[in-house]
Amino acid sequence: MLVELAIGDAYGGSFEHAYPSFVAEHNKLAGYVAQPGAQAGRYTDDTQMTIAIAEVLVSGRRWTPLLLAEQFVRAYHRDPHDGYAPRFHQLLSEVRDGEELLRRLQPQSDKSGAAMRAGPIGLLPTVDDVLYHAKLQARITHDTPAGIAAAQAAALAVHYCHHRVGPLAEVARWIDGILPEDVGHGGWALPWSGKVGPQGWMSVRAALTVLTGGGGLARMLHTAVALTGDVDTVATIALAAASRSPEVAQDLPTALWRDLENGEFGRDYLAGLDARLLHI
Ligand SMILES: [Mg+2]
Repeated sequence: MLVELAIGDAYGGSFEHAYPSFVAEHNKLAGYVAQPGAQAGRYTDDTQMTIAIAEVLVSGRRWTPLLLAEQFVRAYHRDPHDGYAPRFHQLLSEVRDGEELLRRLQPQSDKSGAAMRAGPIGLLPTVDDVLYHAKLQARITHDTPAGIAAAQAAALAVHYCHHRVGPLAEVARWIDGILPEDVGHGGWALPWSGKVGPQGWMSVRAALTVLTGGGGLARMLHTAVALTGDVDTVATIALAAASRSPEVAQDLPTALWRDLENGEFGRDYLAGLDARLLHI
């Protein structure tokens, strides 16, 4: 799951908020697309924060806001990546530990930060576990009804696929039954079309549209990026869930596997963490 979502994030990262003409010309899945000032095949904040969540999960420790905040700070400082919202990026780079992060954060955002990192939480055994942990981590940075609901929905999508709750085409309606629409987005099963904006529910609804649209991972990645807008996050959320679905062909192009960054916290590290994560 982690390698696939990182591939989606790294590939989508080259297209985040790019012009539709650029997306149409380069969204061919032939390889990572180089952008000025950015290394092709490098993942973004979505994957880095997901790694932090996954590490806390495999540690087996009881979740607290401080434990999560510590891990967000550690993951960033040991291997700084781009893609964070500017103010959060600045704060992360300034703070020395989780206590300082919690003290200085103003967690009023309803954007996608808490949803993009929630995927591994869906592996937990029960829906209540998923809702509890998705909310706890969301409240650190996105303590708003919409920010929390988006994180819960993203994690529930993984839960549905991993635990084979039902056919993939029904995943968004299943989430609607658990998280009644009360945050102003019209319901999780409402198909998304067009450019994806910054609110968390937008990325999640777009990812659910990609998931229920069918195809293998390659087609889903292409479809996510073709939406334009915040597509690295859409691809991260969609591929986290799709990689756990028995219905979805695991057909990401070899070049995307090969060229994903593979430094200390790159592809091989993600694969190793993935193997541990699937046994929690
Ligand atoms: Mg990102």
